[in-house]
Amino acid sequence: MHTGTPIYSGKAKTLYTTDDPDKLIMGFRDDTSAFDGRKLAQLSRKGKINNRFNAFIMAKLAEAGIPTHFEHLLSDTESLVKKLHMIPIECVVRNLTAGSVCRRLGVKEGIALDPPTFEFFLKNDELHDPMVNDYLIRSFNWASDADIARMKELTFRVNAVLKDLFFAAGILLVDYKLEFGRYHNEVVLGDEFTPDGCRLWDAATREKLDKDRFRQDLGGVVEAYEEVARRLGIGIQ
Ligand code: ADP
Ligand code: UDP
Repeated sequence: MHTGTPIYSGKAKTLYTTDDPDKLIMGFRDDTSAFDGRKLAQLSRKGKINNRFNAFIMAKLAEAGIPTHFEHLLSDTESLVKKLHMIPIECVVRNLTAGSVCRRLGVKEGIALDPPTFEFFLKNDELHDPMVNDYLIRSFNWASDADIARMKELTFRVNAVLKDLFFAAGILLVDYKLEFGRYHNEVVLGDEFTPDGCRLWDAATREKLDKDRFRQDLGGVVEAYEEVARRLGIGIQ
C-alpha cells in the first residue's frame, strides 16, 4: 500500500487513492476554516492532533458497535479509511444550546436540551449548509428512509458513548456533526470526530475547548485541542 493520487482536497483534509479500490488515505492538514470557508488559517500541529484524536474516538465508537470507516493510523497526519459513497447530509445532535440554534431561535447559549435535539443540514458551502428535514432528503433522493433512520439511530448512539467519555474527562459534549456514507450498502460513519466538528466545554468553568476558539478569535486553539487530548489520555508526540 502506498500513497496514491489525491482525489479530493477539502477545507481541512485530503483524500488519496490506495492500491485497494475500497480504501482511501485520509490526510489531516493544518488548514482551518470557519464560516463556510470565509475565514481561513494554518494552525501548526492541528493536522497531527486531529489525526490522533479521530483515531482514538473512532476506536471507542467501533468498540461500542458503531460501524465506522476508520481502519488504522498510517502516519502522524494520515489514516487508512474505507472508501464511502458519502451521503451529502450533516447530522447534528445538541446536548446544550450553542452556535446556529441560538442564532436561529434567539435563545441563550448554554441551555441544557433534554431530550437532546437532532438536526439535518445539507452539505453545501455555497448555500451555507441549509437545514433540511427527512421529507426534503427523501424528495431529492439524498438518502432513503432506511438510511435516514439509520443515520439518526447511529448519531444518537454516538452521543450515548461520547457524552460519558468526555464527561469522565471533565468535559461537556455540547454538540457535534457527523457525516455518513455507504460501504457496500451498509451505512457507515465517515469523515472525522475532532474538536473541529464538535463543541466541548470544560465542565466546571464552561471554557470553550473547540473550534469556537478559532471562530471567535479566542486564541489558544491548538492548545485547547491538546488539553482535551491530554484529558482523554490520547498520546500525541
Ligand atoms: P470539506 O469537504 O467539508 O471541505 P474536508 O476537508 O474535511 O471537508 O474533506 C473531507 C471530505 O471527505 C468531505 O467532503 C467528506 O464528506 C469526505 N469523506 C469523509 N470520509 C470519507 C470516506 N470514508 N470516503 C469518501 N469520502 C469521505
Ligand atoms: N459543524 C461542522 N461543520 C459544519 C457545520 C457545523 O462541523 O459545516 C459542527 C459545529 O462545529 C458544531 C455543530 O456542528 O459542533 C453544530 O453547528 P451549528 O449548527 O451550531 O453551526 P455553527 O454555529 O458552527 O455555524
